[in-house]
Amino acid sequence: MKYIGAHVSAAGGVFNAPLNAAKIGATAFALFTKNQKQWKSSPLTEEAITKFKENCQKHQFKPEQILPHDSYLINLGHPETEKLEKSRNAFIDELQRCQLLGLRYLNFHPGTHLKQMSEADCLSRIAESINLALQQVSEVTAVIENTAGQGSNLGYRFEHLAEIIEQIDNKDRVGVCLDTCHTFVSGYDLRGAEMCEKTFAEFDQVVGFKYLKGMHINDSKTPYESRVDRHAPLGAGEIGWDCFKYIMGDGRFDGIPMVLETTNPELWPEEIAEMKRLAGLTE
Ligand SMILES: [Zn+2]
Ligand SMILES: [Zn+2]
Repeated sequence: MKYIGAHVSAAGGVFNAPLNAAKIGATAFALFTKNQKQWKSSPLTEEAITKFKENCQKHQFKPEQILPHDSYLINLGHPETEKLEKSRNAFIDELQRCQLLGLRYLNFHPGTHLKQMSEADCLSRIAESINLALQQVSEVTAVIENTAGQGSNLGYRFEHLAEIIEQIDNKDRVGVCLDTCHTFVSGYDLRGAEMCEKTFAEFDQVVGFKYLKGMHINDSKTPYESRVDRHAPLGAGEIGWDCFKYIMGDGRFDGIPMVLETTNPELWPEEIAEMKRLAGLTE
């Protein structure tokens, strides 16, 4: 079964996210559990947690259909001690919020070395950050997203993801999220079924499908290998529908949230309906 949706707004309270997802015909969704552009956040109230769980139940969203995303400010590989501490504490807070909401995953970008340390050292630092955080929170799985490789962001090679996982003590609590736009612009072709076959075989060999816990389904405004991250509506970018058709028809992508982060939310109902059709879920 394919779970298909979008990264919806949680404005007014986390409990609005499942309502916004249901409105667009989604069977999966992503959300920020706090303001993603601020360090500080007020704790989740009992009332907000209860309402969130009720709304999820009402619209049949189970934890495996939901992929919360952490704040953009967090850098688990920060080269400076003080800022690394701040990021680690914020990441633990994010994991705790997910746990309180009864969620299973937390999706995040691995980190950036800011040209102040080697890639290998930064990857080890990221793994250490994840290990420390997982010790503090008992249940949530850390889901590392592959990146476009803009600037000094790590995670743009499948090998980076594998290297981090290799250094995680509890491998049951780590996973990855592949973003189709990031995959493509970082140098893995997805144009047409043949290229998809090749790219996902490489992913399986280097990382392994057993670690795949979510997908971000985006087309790309920018060309192949550009390492510039600009999402586009499905079919309106450089990747094209053949890739999304391939993914929707492949059982290796079953049972995980597939989340649109495309640039025009008005198109989400249509994009979701088309993906459901390609997945054989509707006529
Ligand atoms: Zn993404
Ligand atoms: Zn992106």
